[in-house]
Amino acid sequence: MKQVYKRDLERLWQTISEHFELYLPLEQDGKVNFMPWKQGENVNIDRLKTDLSPKNIIFPPTETYLKFRTVNKRLCFESVGGKNDKYVVFGMRPCDAASYSILDKVFLQEPIDRFYEERRTNGIIISLACSEPEETCFCSSFGIAADNPVLGTDIAAWDIGESILWQPKSEKGKKLTGILDNILQDTSEHEIIALERLQQSIREKLAQLPWVDLDLEIISNNMKEMFESKVWEELSKSCLGCGVCTFVCPTCHCFDIQDFGAERNGERFRCWDSCMYSDFTRMAHGNPRKTQTERFRQRFMHKLVYFLNNNGVYACVGCGRCVEKCPVNMNIVKVIKKLGGD
Ligand code: SF4
Ligand code: SF4
Repeated sequence: MKQVYKRDLERLWQTISEHFELYLPLEQDGKVNFMPWKQGENVNIDRLKTDLSPKNIIFPPTETYLKFRTVNKRLCFESVGGKNDKYVVFGMRPCDAASYSILDKVFLQEPIDRFYEERRTNGIIISLACSEPEETCFCSSFGIAADNPVLGTDIAAWDIGESILWQPKSEKGKKLTGILDNILQDTSEHEIIALERLQQSIREKLAQLPWVDLDLEIISNNMKEMFESKVWEELSKSCLGCGVCTFVCPTCHCFDIQDFGAERNGERFRCWDSCMYSDFTRMAHGNPRKTQTERFRQRFMHKLVYFLNNNGVYACVGCGRCVEKCPVNMNIVKVIKKLGGD
């Protein structure tokens, strides 16, 4: 176990940025989001949740796949996109890091998404434990440990006050640790005791949160009954179909692919889409889900049932962003509770 003193953080970031593109939680106009760092930026590693999830780093909101043009009546293609630069993300929370391992199950299954694969391979994730979990957090319901970053994590980190403890979890994490050898310091028993205290305090805080142990067993046992349940109509009544919940969610991954351009040249691009939209997956015969109730049901059945059946994990990490951002105060916790009979 290593540590970096907070007074050395700027030097750490400077050194990392000499070797990699560095993403940090940057504050701009009161919002905090992961963005590429350069000297002089306002870094905020104390904000628990960034406003948007860091999924945009590995799955950008828009991305050009290829360009095409006609030359002498022949159609020519040029492959673009992907991210060749190696990069580091510092300060991602355990739930967001875990969301990367969920997205892996979508994009790294055959047929593998090469652009996504490139980004995942080129990235090193430093995940910071949550010293102050908030009321809207329920990661523990999905088996994610806020006190001990593991999933999707190359280096686990803990803020113990004067310094940040640093524990490599993967080969990529070990290599980066080697590069930073002159900034990272050894730890003593004093820091290890401080870490144990911090983890204990995080666990105690988590245990006090209102949604610490949502009952997921009840909802996942009877798919047909759940699909046909009358509660969807009631739950979806207030939903505006705005899609905010899907865009802030670290695990939502629906996208659209379109061609754009003029007669002789253009490009094919991918952009985020939302299953909450009325024109989502519209086909020649129309939209398979005609009502907002059907679309609303799809989002939650996918997260809580279909994804679990297909991949062995829920497509939610309990980050609570949808709880905070939905304009009509509807969210996955209300859905879970209602389906569970509350
Ligand atoms: S954020 Fe709320 S209102 Fe908007 S689509 Fe999601 S559930 Fe519906
Ligand atoms: S559904 Fe809500 S709580 Fe779950 S991962 Fe998405 S935004 Fe976070």
